[in-house]
Amino acid sequence: MENCLFCRIVRREIPSRIVYEDDLVLGFYDIEPKAPVHILLIPKAHIASLNDLTQEHSDIMAHLTLVIPKAAEKMGIKDSGYRVVVNCGRDSGQAVAHLHYHILGGRAFGNDFG
Ligand code: AMP
Ligand code: ZN
Repeated sequence: MENCLFCRIVRREIPSRIVYEDDLVLGFYDIEPKAPVHILLIPKAHIASLNDLTQEHSDIMAHLTLVIPKAAEKMGIKDSGYRVVVNCGRDSGQAVAHLHYHILGGRAFGNDFG
């Protein structure tokens, strides 16, 4: 999508620190990390949010999910553990309207989901 921030990162129009890439998925460091490790994992295709998923996205979402532990392993947090967060819509605070998994690790999290 033309002016979507994360689509622009996929197209390399905006720089990012990429940690994982394949045909369908891009992983890169969050610019304002909330944990010692904080990366974002996105489908390269523009999907605005969880609310926009259709049956057609089944394969890509299955793949995106399977990449999570691979990316965690690459970041050295697979065994220590990590938190995966997806914001959706206004009340969640979703700021970028391109579906993304936050993968956070490198410290212990409480059960307060804020
Ligand atoms: P959300 O609130 O779930 O939409 O999360 C958006 C995330 O994108 C935030 O954690 C931001 O810090 C992050 N972010 C915004 N701009 C960039 C960027 N140019 N590169 C990497 N991460 C970004
Ligand atoms: Zn997009």
